[in-house]
Amino acid sequence: MKSETRTTELKWFKKDFPLLGGTNRGKPLVYLDSASSAQKPQQVIDAISYFYGHDYANIHRGIYELSERATNVYEQAREAAARFINASSNEIIFTSGTTGAINLVAQSFGRSQLQAGDEIIVTEMEHHSNIVPWYLLKEQMGIVLKVVPVLDDGSLDMLAYASLFSSRTKLVAVTHVSNVIGTINPIRDMIMLAHSNDVPVLVDGAQAVPHMNVDVADLDCDFYTFSSHKLYGPTGIGVLYAKSHWLSQMPPYQGGGGMIETVSFDEIIYVNAPHKFEAGTPDIAGAVGLLAAIQYISNIGMQNIEKHEQSLLEYAEEKIHELGFVQIIGTTHPKAGVISFVMNDVHAHDIGTILDAEGIAIRAGHHCAMPLMQRFNVPATVRASFGIYNDFSDVDALIEALKLVKRLFPDVAA
Ligand code: PMP
Repeated sequence: MKSETRTTELKWFKKDFPLLGGTNRGKPLVYLDSASSAQKPQQVIDAISYFYGHDYANIHRGIYELSERATNVYEQAREAAARFINASSNEIIFTSGTTGAINLVAQSFGRSQLQAGDEIIVTEMEHHSNIVPWYLLKEQMGIVLKVVPVLDDGSLDMLAYASLFSSRTKLVAVTHVSNVIGTINPIRDMIMLAHSNDVPVLVDGAQAVPHMNVDVADLDCDFYTFSSHKLYGPTGIGVLYAKSHWLSQMPPYQGGGGMIETVSFDEIIYVNAPHKFEAGTPDIAGAVGLLAAIQYISNIGMQNIEKHEQSLLEYAEEKIHELGFVQIIGTTHPKAGVISFVMNDVHAHDIGTILDAEGIAIRAGHHCAMPLMQRFNVPATVRASFGIYNDFSDVDALIEALKLVKRLFPDVAA
């Protein structure tokens, strides 16, 4: 089907994103790298700018009105983040991002609850952010990593998952959506199985939260993480959701101002979560931007976003199949608007370079998921990923540029 015959209610959202009207290498920009980081709508840019111009001061410290205003907006952001994933605000900790959130859980929960020989189950499709923090625990404490294999279609081997539990299993850490191949994992089932073995679950939601409704109460996960910058918000801030049951048992990860009741050289009394885990001056303007981003996408409606991105995905997969010389890695569904592909005998970086010259911003590489590259026996893939601002013409531009790659590398086998 031709793109002109398809309609999309969300097409006009592109105009909210000033950068998307720009160029890349002198050509109109086609931005297909939202899985790496999403562009920012004017509403988010304005909210941050307004905050610095009108309401800025340090928070939780000053007794003056301005500091109160800044504190209020920071705490409003926490409440909005909580509502967004159906949690309570005292279960929301602001971190530097998904990476910061997972490291917090590893160093606080991991160091206090695990012992040498205890096991953590991860999967072969994890981002390095959900591997390296656990590997550090392996080095620091002698914990053992167990890995759920990925099947040929890019789904998890659920039978293998079930078989990995033992009396030493102390945590499952799994991505909700693969940042490389877009697979949406059956995390509800995974959480139920883990809980039936008395094992808590951390879900890396970095790639899920921008694309679908997430309800942590319904999932019943113990920890859930995401980054603002993939959700049309600013860089530098992200969220760790943790059940209060765990937060009350976890020691602080970092020490500093803002997380103490009293300090003497003999004894320190900490405040309760979430502030116990937010030492030092946080990213206040980041929280303001995240609040604006959550309001922006809530106004559009997550179901509309999901529908729009699914139709882009379907269109792109159809067009790529029609080309006949491009192989998609990870064919399973459901998947989010993320497609990884390779072309025989053309390195992903060469494809990325040719696309770049055509104005297309796309990711080529290992996508911080080297074990998954090894699994599929490829050094790298090209990844196109969609956001709310993409439309069918962006997919058409990608397809035309891939035909150009084929013309430049005519010997590529189909
Ligand atoms: N997990 C996944 C699945 C991701 O896609 C990413 C970002 N690419 C991260 C973790 C890390 O997020 P951040 O760099 O924002 O901390």
